[in-house]
Amino acid sequence: MAKKWFESTVIKIKNESPTTKRFWLQVGGDEIVDFKAGQFVTLDLPISDKRTKRWRSYSIANAPDQSNILEFCIVLLEGGSGTTYLFEEVKIGTSIKFKKPAGGFYLPENIETDLVFICTGTGLAPFRSMLWDIYNNKIPHKNIHLIFGTRTEDGILYEKEIEDLLEKMPELKYSVALSRTKNLPEKKYELATGYVHPIYQKHFSEVRNDVNFWICGWSHMIDEAVAKLLKEMGYDKRQIHYELYG
Ligand SMILES: Cc1cc2nc3c(=O)[nH]c(=O)nc-3n(C[C@H](O)[C@H](O)[C@H](O)COP(=O)(O)OP(=O)(O)OC[C@H]3O[C@@H](n4cnc5c(N)ncnc54)[C@H](O)[C@@H]3O)c2cc1C
Repeated sequence: MAKKWFESTVIKIKNESPTTKRFWLQVGGDEIVDFKAGQFVTLDLPISDKRTKRWRSYSIANAPDQSNILEFCIVLLEGGSGTTYLFEEVKIGTSIKFKKPAGGFYLPENIETDLVFICTGTGLAPFRSMLWDIYNNKIPHKNIHLIFGTRTEDGILYEKEIEDLLEKMPELKYSVALSRTKNLPEKKYELATGYVHPIYQKHFSEVRNDVNFWICGWSHMIDEAVAKLLKEMGYDKRQIHYELYG
């Protein structure tokens, strides 16, 4: 991929939760935007005169499929200039320039261990891309446990789709932690009150070498999960991979 910047047009926008929207960008021109599941792009948004102050990074939420359509799952941050622009100004037909896919948050070519994906909120985006990539391309893998945290039931992102993947991928396990919900509804997957931490602490209390943890989200969650708890549990830092959002 020779080009550094690409032009795109917003072709679809959908509410995914009360504070989260999915955006689909169709890339212009003939060149295919190649990326690895888990990578992100940097959007150049017209929110400042200074170039670097206009840049906001977002994980690509769909799997690579050569369609030149990129999907993003973005949460509105109160007072955030990029997300306020995306939520209030961007419409179907809006042009958005973005820098070519980047980042090292992608799975190894040979998946030789069980995988645990831990995320909160829109931190699900790179894992959605990885799961569909594994499924669509029949990439050999072992067990996968997706652990997702949000506050309330209406914040569970891509729920129907992940339920569908659970049927397609018997080796996939899905757990959701709701931090601000006491009465849990009946679900097809494991649902708990509280944060994500007790879930992986319960399922992976016995330290194993054949598991890798992939973590994505906002810094507090990452710090708590990676630096403290997983290492305290006895896991080696080489078994822990993460993408930091802010
Ligand atoms: C590799 C990577 C991938 C990412 N992927 C995603 C993704 O897939 N989905 C996603 O939703 N996010 C993602 N992010 C986060 C994203 O890049 C932005 O940081 C996020 O959307 C916030 O941008 P913003 O411009 O709205 O907030 P900013 O304007 O940058 O503000 C950041 C914070 O400061 C606060 N703030 C801003 N102005 C004020 C003010 N005047 N007073 C008080 N507080 C203020 C905001 O509330 C916000 O919490 C990713 C980040 C990285 C680094």
